Amino acid sequence: MLRSVILAASRSSQVERLVATAPLTRDVVRRFVAGTGTDDALRATRELVADGLTVTLDNLGEDTVTPGQATATRDEYLALLRGLAAAGLTPAAEVSVKLSALGQRFDAQLAYDNVRAICVAADQAGTTVTLDMEDHTTTDSTLDTLVKLRKDHPSTGAVLQAYLRRTESDCRELAGVGSRVRLCKGAYAEPESVAYQSAREVDKSYVRCLNVLMSGAGYPMLATHDPRLIAIGEDRARWFDRGPDEFEFQMLYGIRPEEQARLAGEGYTVRTYLPYGEDWYGYLMRRLAERPANLVFFGRALASKK
Ligand SMILES: Cc1cc2nc3c(=O)[nH]c(=O)nc-3n(C[C@H](O)[C@H](O)[C@H](O)COP(=O)(O)OP(=O)(O)OC[C@H]3O[C@@H](n4cnc5c(N)ncnc54)[C@H](O)[C@@H]3O)c2cc1C
Repeated sequence: MLRSVILAASRSSQVERLVATAPLTRDVVRRFVAGTGTDDALRATRELVADGLTVTLDNLGEDTVTPGQATATRDEYLALLRGLAAAGLTPAAEVSVKLSALGQRFDAQLAYDNVRAICVAADQAGTTVTLDMEDHTTTDSTLDTLVKLRKDHPSTGAVLQAYLRRTESDCRELAGVGSRVRLCKGAYAEPESVAYQSAREVDKSYVRCLNVLMSGAGYPMLATHDPRLIAIGEDRARWFDRGPDEFEFQMLYGIRPEEQARLAGEGYTVRTYLPYGEDWYGYLMRRLAERPANLVFFGRALASKK
């Protein structure tokens, strides 16, 4: 219930204005977001890589409504990839891209041209691109785009969301050789017709999907902060004899950093999802929806007169 309210607020421009102008919002944002510009992103990436982590960078922004916005997002990724290569941060750092930020909702061809340009730049920089997954109305078109991109850029990664009923079958489709698949629980408010509603059902689906991916021939990317699922991931890695270059754990910047360090210290590949940019509102609200404790933290900041 609380989760649905917060997710609804994530689409409200009135709530966005209220949150963006609150005195301590900047401190809260800083916990989850690297900063607003390319330089902030490069600095945070350098620090994470120095700590033995790998990184996937997300230029914040989604649901763009004009071709100009979509092109500006593409250009920011191109600049970021040039910066990562120049700083010697590839291949440890790759990029995550939302097709809605590249125009998917109003011009599918424009979104495709933009993401293809990013894939070409990633190839030149010596790194990879992962297509973030958004709400279920975009799943088919995102997976269609993935198939097209993989013809020329076979390392392009996909994201599958365990809360969707279809995902176990999508995992089977995408568990082939060379296929990079990030498995997450899913972050959007979805109807019962397409998605499991209880945490227990979502967790059970995650384990089924994890089993398919870890027993398959692809490269699984287990994106979760959930201690039980991480333990199951470690167990399956032993069971299926997967070394550190044959799968990875992924977590969000600012969430369970000690666990990220512990796993990296044990020799696993751990990738931190590092968002940056001005457009942090939708991202921050999804993080708050995931965990009531963060809402208390955020409420205190909003109430502060400082
Ligand atoms: C690398 C990465 C990429 C992602 N990409 C996508 C994507 O493309 N599409 C999409 O829909 N979703 C994406 N997600 C979000 C994902 O779907 C979940 O919403 C999110 O990861 C929370 O689920 P969880 O597996 O951590 O489990 P949860 O059940 O939410 O949490 C399990 C435990 O983790 C800790 N924890 C979880 N969240 C927080 C938090 N916000 N603050 C502090 N502690 C926390 C707590 O200890 C909690 O008990 C991504 C997540 C990650 C890690």
